[in-house]
Amino acid sequence: MGKQKAKQKKKAGSQKVSSKKRRVLIGKPKAVKTGKPSSTTRKALKTDRLDLSKFPAESVTQMERGICLACVWEVFTRHLKLAPKTALVEIKRYTPSLDELSAAALPRPYVAAQSSKEACPYCGAASKWIARLPIYRIESGKATDALRRELVKSLSKKNDAFVVLEQKATQQHAFFEWLELISKQLDLDDPAWIREVSRHYLSRVAPKVDWLTEFNQAHSIRRSRRLEEGWEIDSGRLFLSPMLFDELLLMQYLVSRSHLAGGLTFEGRYTLPELFHRLRNSGYLRGVGVQANNPGDALEQLLAHLSGGEAVLRFYYIIDRRALLESAKGLKMVKAKGAAR
Ligand SMILES: [Zn+2]
Repeated sequence: MGKQKAKQKKKAGSQKVSSKKRRVLIGKPKAVKTGKPSSTTRKALKTDRLDLSKFPAESVTQMERGICLACVWEVFTRHLKLAPKTALVEIKRYTPSLDELSAAALPRPYVAAQSSKEACPYCGAASKWIARLPIYRIESGKATDALRRELVKSLSKKNDAFVVLEQKATQQHAFFEWLELISKQLDLDDPAWIREVSRHYLSRVAPKVDWLTEFNQAHSIRRSRRLEEGWEIDSGRLFLSPMLFDELLLMQYLVSRSHLAGGLTFEGRYTLPELFHRLRNSGYLRGVGVQANNPGDALEQLLAHLSGGEAVLRFYYIIDRRALLESAKGLKMVKAKGAAR
């Protein structure tokens, strides 16, 4: 805790230094001939990612948007006929909207993440004009709320270097998005996926446990005959309470049902009716209050139960605008000298 605070303090301190430096640079543009951010500053920005290691991994998503400032400059000054000064103010003020954050692919002036080292595909401007906007999305909840507030409090407020946007969603929405995300990461042709999906799910339901370590210690995962709830490690085996174990079967089924013959679990392949009977006979369905008489209805109710249904949840997007502000500074110096690109 103390170490973390000291780290944040140090971080805030280094930001202060760089913004001071920034002012000096703007005041004396002649000192920087090319107008590009100095290599040390660029390096610092690149590695200076927010530390979210304290957050439960399943509640945090990281992404990045690239935006070509040369393109924006052109649109603002040539097409919209904004005065350079106004254009610069607008660029510095820029924050993506929630729609832009959620979109899979965005048109010009956005640039795909994989081309970060390449020139702008639209206007050919050098990669230094493509400002990277690192974005962190944190799912609300008991496990993250206090950590998130602490993190946001520690961030630099100067020039709105960090902007936090809030999006309302349902628990169900978050659950399915999470399920889709981990499904994408899994290779269903590699038998290890079944352990992976189990670890992801347990990390989601019990975020305070270091499941990576637990799984590294366990060579097998079993259904406990003894435990009423929770789990335990015994002689290299991870024993789960029957309810938890059965829930994993369901998760495994959900992830693999659309793959090949589908429905692969710890207990082999299940069709939906077979899984339904299995979960009914074990008492799992009764345990979670699902009373449906047919597999389809039961699955629907199970999903509502697992996900939390329509209950409200919030996504908090932390947008790191430091690189954008840094690039905009260079833009001012170059454009002011009339040296377009
Ligand atoms: Zn461009």
